[in-house]
Amino acid sequence: MSSVEKRRVDKLNPDDRRLLDLAATYRRRAYSPYSGYKVGAALRTPGGKTYGGCNIENAAYGPTNCAERTAVFKAVSEGDREFSAIAVTGGGEGFPYPCGVCRQVLSEFARPDLRVVMANVDTGEAVIATLADLLPFSFTLEKGGK
Ligand SMILES: [Zn+2]
Repeated sequence: MSSVEKRRVDKLNPDDRRLLDLAATYRRRAYSPYSGYKVGAALRTPGGKTYGGCNIENAAYGPTNCAERTAVFKAVSEGDREFSAIAVTGGGEGFPYPCGVCRQVLSEFARPDLRVVMANVDTGEAVIATLADLLPFSFTLEKGGK
């Protein structure tokens, strides 16, 4: 059963709003001269540590990295592999839903009940979902090596 809901950002709980504020800070650092679409993301670990990221585009397009993956890769490279929530901020129309690649990367480290808060900074609206809502039946392999 889906738990996706839409709410005003100012009606969210303080933890969600703090994580969205951090994501908005990283959004200001976005490098998006080609699309003009700025995204910020912020991850929270079960212990309360946070990692932020922004989208980083490239003239060759293919090497472009999304904000969500920037945050995940920063966290993993610092030794954190468990996440309880991610906030994503974007503007324009609609909501900054993570792309399929980011959903798969999140599924590598986060449990299906990862809280995903996606907010549009222009409208003040947010969608709250779980990773399982966004990526049911994700691809997995047994982890043999580590
Ligand atoms: Zn992505």
